[in-house]
Amino acid sequence: MTKIERLSDNVYVFTSDRYAQVTAGVVLTPDGAIVIDTLPYEDETRDMREFIERKLGSVVRYVVNTHHHADHVFGTWIFGGAHVVAHALCAELLHTRTREGLKRAQQDSPDMAKVHIVLPQVTFRTSQFRLTLGGKTLILTHSPGHSPDLVTVLVNEDRVLFASDTVMSIPVIAGTGGSLKNLLGSLQDVVLTDVEMLVQGHGDVILRGEIRDSVRGQIRYLQTIDAHVRRTLKRRLSKETLANYLLAATNLVKVQMGGLAENLHQTNVNALYDQLRRSVRPYPSTPRTRPAAVAKPRVRKPLAAKRSSPVRKAARPAPKPAARTAKRKLVQPKAKSKPVKSKKELRKAEKKLTHKREKSARKAAKAKKSK
Ligand SMILES: [Zn+2]
Repeated sequence: MTKIERLSDNVYVFTSDRYAQVTAGVVLTPDGAIVIDTLPYEDETRDMREFIERKLGSVVRYVVNTHHHADHVFGTWIFGGAHVVAHALCAELLHTRTREGLKRAQQDSPDMAKVHIVLPQVTFRTSQFRLTLGGKTLILTHSPGHSPDLVTVLVNEDRVLFASDTVMSIPVIAGTGGSLKNLLGSLQDVVLTDVEMLVQGHGDVILRGEIRDSVRGQIRYLQTIDAHVRRTLKRRLSKETLANYLLAATNLVKVQMGGLAENLHQTNVNALYDQLRRSVRPYPSTPRTRPAAVAKPRVRKPLAAKRSSPVRKAARPAPKPAARTAKRKLVQPKAKSKPVKSKKELRKAEKKLTHKREKSARKAAKAKKSK
């Protein structure tokens, strides 16, 4: 059974018992009701509709889809006759991704057979959109990050913010189109919004006194995993090593959503790895310290000096000392695999060097003897 809470005279929140504590809401006005998100399972959405019609004696005039994810929109078809409102991107994604997702879901579970996607009739591309009905104003604000099409819904008169999946006890940037950078910006916007109550996309309602700490904790979590994944890429470690990076290591507190949290965390870090691998440059590889690698340049040095003509040397700009070392470090492994001199020449050079060493050793021995 869906949990129903009354947040103010005219605002109620419904929390799913069946899927990850996903939330939906209703705002009552003398001219009808506005529903915010519609839960994923038919029985729970029917409970919601029945409550609005029988207990509250209202009729649903508008349905707001906060974003295209199945757990927020699969119940929309149950409110036939209401106008559906969403961001234009949401309408596009509903038509493509959510439709495909529904097809897959219907193959797996026959009880989803009746579900169909309802495309929004009222869409907008602006950063804010005001929906007014019966003296209530709902301010829809574009809040990308969790998904690109997400909007939060502020019930202006009641100061209740339906933050949808921008605020979850564990922030989620997973899936195609999610962006950590955008989510950080959207969470900052939430911190700056003055509200009495905040309804998360999943989990408990957050009260005024706890909103800032809670949202700031989520921002810190995102910054922590961002730094960890960047370090992983810089050190050229594989994506698989992220499996050892557990949620407990991030200091995110008060995580609800039961056993899903660890999975969501893993999805986050994996998605982040894929997003950042193109932009994060790994540390330069360290030069090899094996004796062979050290010995070779020593041999090559005098030869290279002999070979390079003064004209060629002059044509090259003189590198700065620091740059020269860096260059040598990077170039070294390549030079190793491609000998500059022929074997014969190297042997000659080595012989010369050994001869020189032996000569000096003899000299030293002689000096010792004469003492
Ligand atoms: Zn979502």
